[in-house]
Amino acid sequence: MSTLDNILEEINKAETIVILTHENPDGDAIGSALALYNSLKQIGKNPDVIIPEYPRTFEFLPGAEETKKESDVEKYDLAISVDCATIKMLNGFAKYFENAKSRISIDHHSTNTMFGDLNYVSPDAPACAQILLVVLEYFKVDITKEIGTCILAGIITDTGGFKYSGVTAETFEFVAWLANKGINVPKVYRKVLQIKTRANFELNRIAANRLEFYEDGKVAFTYITKEDEEKVNSESGDHEGIVETGRDIEGVEVSIFLRETDKGCKVSMRSNEYVNVSDVCLLLGGGGHIRAAGATMQCTIEQAKEKILRQIKSVI
Ligand code: AMP
Ligand code: MN
Ligand code: MN
Repeated sequence: MSTLDNILEEINKAETIVILTHENPDGDAIGSALALYNSLKQIGKNPDVIIPEYPRTFEFLPGAEETKKESDVEKYDLAISVDCATIKMLNGFAKYFENAKSRISIDHHSTNTMFGDLNYVSPDAPACAQILLVVLEYFKVDITKEIGTCILAGIITDTGGFKYSGVTAETFEFVAWLANKGINVPKVYRKVLQIKTRANFELNRIAANRLEFYEDGKVAFTYITKEDEEKVNSESGDHEGIVETGRDIEGVEVSIFLRETDKGCKVSMRSNEYVNVSDVCLLLGGGGHIRAAGATMQCTIEQAKEKILRQIKSVI
């Protein structure tokens, strides 16, 4: 039996199911979770999706209103994690995963630690949502407009609008297939990627003003503080995309963006052609993909900056 057959068997067997994803969820995290949610409902299940901080940008996605911030269920029959590389990244809600009788991880991070009992991980896929499309087809789920929209939201956001290196002909074939089903691709694109909240714009402005170059212009560095976020009334997800500003400047190979949080400092790193930022972030206790990775460091922005720039020196 293949892993997918085993996963389907676990789903069929389970009476209570919880769907989880990583903290600070992005479009792929939310899109994957809701695509799975709507699909499991279609096959007669009634899963919970637990997302404590739900970004406003993705409120239009089908199923968004049914997501929960927490749950009273002590022990689910089955927990499924999507778009999450490690159990640590499930953060405050890892308990739902750890306590479940059976655990599945569906993901596309090359640094996935295989923390499920069953793991379906394809690092070549540019978005977890793209893997889900294959998985759901295999399960013979009817990919409705609702499910397709969630999948499309994941693919568009994690590929930066079809422009990152993980994009292949297959990605466009999937999207063409979704368009043929009547999904309005430009409309979803605009909603999930193009329109910025006002707070996001203000944070971008602050970060752009602070941007500095290192290593002969090959490294771009910037940050935002908690105070900045308070000043602009920032909500969950409002820091998304800031790291891209540095990456898109001519001559820049690595863009580094730091965000001060209650737990220390969240690192976002992007590269263009040759630096493996996943390796760099692994050394900082995080992980991710070759061209997009992150970590959480327990120190100040200044300390993190110094440590990261030292690491980058040896790979740039
Ligand atoms: P971000 O900069 O937060 O958008 O993250 C870029 C990529 O790296 C995403 O795919 C994240 O899921 C992944 N990532 C971020 N932080 C971590 C971490 N601490 N451990 C593993 N993967 C991470
Ligand atoms: Mn993600
Ligand atoms: Mn992803």
